[in-house]
Amino acid sequence: MTEFNELLERNREFAANADLGGLAMPPKEAMPDKLLLLLTCVDPRVEPAGFLGVGTWDAGVLRNAGGRVDDKVVEDIAYLSMRLGARMDVAVIHHTQCGTGMLSEPAFRQAFADRTGLDEGALTERAVTDPTTTVRQDVAKLLANPLLSSDIIASVSGHVLRLETGLVETVVEATAPARTPAA
Ligand SMILES: [Zn+2]
Repeated sequence: MTEFNELLERNREFAANADLGGLAMPPKEAMPDKLLLLLTCVDPRVEPAGFLGVGTWDAGVLRNAGGRVDDKVVEDIAYLSMRLGARMDVAVIHHTQCGTGMLSEPAFRQAFADRTGLDEGALTERAVTDPTTTVRQDVAKLLANPLLSSDIIASVSGHVLRLETGLVETVVEATAPARTPAA
C-alpha cells in the first residue's frame, strides 16, 4: 500500500510536467454545455483513473461507500451543475465484491450502528450485495428526484464494474429525467 509521501513525490513530477493551462477554469462561453459525472465506490480498487482511464477534464467524480445515491450526492450534482453552468450526464457505477455487502450481515451492521450511532435501517439500505439491482435502484432514484430536473441532469446511466474481469457492463442505458424545469 502507498504512503502519502510517495504520492507527494508523484505530485512534484506532475507539477513539473503538467500543462497547467489545462487546470485553468475556461471562460463561461467556452464551457461545454454537458459534463460527465461519475458516481462510484470509495474502494481503492475502484479508481476511475485506472479502470476508465479518466484524466483531467474528462469527468467530475463523486465517491462514497458503495457509490450510492443519497441527499449529499444529489446536492453535489445540483451544485456542480449550477457552478459550471452545465448539465450533467451522470453515470452510476456499482461493483462486485463491494465491502458495503457486509452491512447486509446483521451482526456486523449492529456492531457498526452501535459504534457510530447511525441508524441500522439506513445502513441496511446502503449495502451493495447485488450491484445490478442496486445500480438500477439508484438510477431510478436520481431520475425521480424532485431537485434534479432536466436543466440539471441531461441523463443518468447505470453500470457494474466486475472486478473478476475488470470489465464494465451497462445495466441501464442513458435515460433523460422526466421532470422538466419549473417555470
Ligand atoms: Zn464498494
